Formats: sequence, structure tokens, C-alpha cells
Amino acid sequence: MSASGFPVTAEHDLAWIEAPHPNDELHRRIGVMGGTFDPIHHGHLVAASEVQHRFGLDEVIFVPTGEPPYKQEREVSPAEYRYLMTVIATASNARFSVSRVDIDRPGLTYTIDTLRDLREIYPDDEFFFITGADVLPQILDWKDASELWELAHFVGVSRPGHSIASNGLPPDRVTVIEVPAMAISSTDVRERERIGVPIWYLVPDGVVQYIRKYGLYSPSRIPRVSQPGRAARQRQGR
Ligand code: NAP
Repeated sequence: MSASGFPVTAEHDLAWIEAPHPNDELHRRIGVMGGTFDPIHHGHLVAASEVQHRFGLDEVIFVPTGEPPYKQEREVSPAEYRYLMTVIATASNARFSVSRVDIDRPGLTYTIDTLRDLREIYPDDEFFFITGADVLPQILDWKDASELWELAHFVGVSRPGHSIASNGLPPDRVTVIEVPAMAISSTDVRERERIGVPIWYLVPDGVVQYIRKYGLYSPSRIPRVSQPGRAARQRQGR
């Protein structure tokens, strides 16, 4: 138990998760890694790998948000940048993939729509929605919250020492695990890049190079090339 009383998994708590389960081609266990990923960093990747291992997941699908509903006050990098950084970061892991469902759906991104869209693509599979544990206490206020529990088990990834308020969350549908590498944060990576402090080894090398190529997070850096997807959108009149 964490200080707040929310169950953080210890090895013995994982017995049910790690027990042999009837994974087969028809009923796979799929992690749905939802996040803004502005930018994706090694904390996210370690967290996804850890949850994949502990829950015996066949695949983890990273789903960068389109327009996050609670981020109207801060400027989020265009979705196409965040999507491509996520593709670069996950390319070498055979169990990782990236979905465009959230960035291609118009309007604000709600997790209920993410899970419904993925359910249409994977009608027989079991979903484990993975996200930051900080986000979990807000879930009860999310759109169609009561239906979320039917569509997925929720896994909150916690930074070491963070306590999570569990009020009202169904304990059988929510698990919190601590991942030490989550000490890395996207906010910190953006700030480091803004003030010119190295971000090497906090994010994958290819993502560092992509950030530099497009001048992300650094107001003084001129991008060498135009925004990905912009030419295509202009041709389509969007
Ligand atoms: P956020 O508020 O930016 O992140 C909160 C915390 O969780 C941050 O510490 C963040 O660290 C961490 N985090 C976020 N995604 C993570 C992940 N996949 N794995 C590990 N840590 C993660 O959260 P957000 O990115 O906007 O939203 C997270 C997910 O919840 C998205 O899929 C979003 O669509 C969904 N959401 C849904 C609703 C709704 O349906 N109404 C509302 C809010 C969020 P970093 O900053 O380092 O990533």
C-alpha cells in the first residue's frame, strides 16, 4: 500500500498478473500507452517495457494524444511532431507500435473514444490502459467514466515516492506500479532544451536529433526543415 492507501504492486501482488493466462491469437493482452509524449522519454519506454513484462502483454500500442482536453493553458507541440518522435523512439522494439487514432480524430482527445476506436480494430482483445499515476484520480471526471472500466484495466505508472489518492477508483480495475526511470519528465526535458542543457540519454538519440532538426522547445533555434505533414495539409486546404 502507498502512504495514501492506494495499492502499489509488490512482487506478491503480481501473482495473478504473472500467472499463465490463455494468450492466444484470438484473445491477446494489449497495452494502450496513452500520453501527450511532448517529448517521449526513456521513462515512458521503461514504464511500457515494465508493464509489458509484468502483465504478460502481447503488444503495447503507444497512442499520442490529439488535442488534450486539460492542456488548453499550455501550448502543446503539433501532434505530427509528437507522433513521429514516438515512432522513432519505439521503432526498435518488436512489441511496441504507435497508433494515430487520437491524432486523426478531430476535436479534443477523450480516452473513452481512444478505447472505443481501438475496440473496433481489436474486438476480441483485452486492454490495459497505461498512463501516469498522477492522472488516475481525475478519471472519475472523464467523459463516460463508468464505461471506461468495462473497456480496460488501468495501470498507473508512478514516480518513486509519489502517493496517489484512490478515492472512488475500483481497486479491481486499477493497478499502480512504481517505475524508477519515471523520475525523467517531459516538462524537465523541454525546459532543459529551452535553456541549452543536454537532454542526451534522457530521451532516445533519434529523438534528440529530431528535436534539434525541427527546433522544438528552443525558441531561438531556427528549424532546418518545415513541419512534418504541413505541406500535405496545405495541399488538402486544411
Ligand atoms: P499529463 O497530465 O501530461 O501527465 C500527468 C503525469 O503523468 C505526468 O507526470 C506525465 O509525465 C505522466 N504520464 C503521462 N502519460 C504517461 C504514460 N503513458 N506513461 C507514464 N507516465 C505518463 O497527462 P496527459 O499526457 O495529458 O494524459 C495522459 C493520458 O490520459 C492520455 O492518453 C490522455 O488522452 C488521457 N486523458 C484523458 C482525459 C479524458 O478522457 N477526459 C483527460 C486527461 C487525460 P510526462 O509529462 O513525463 O509524460
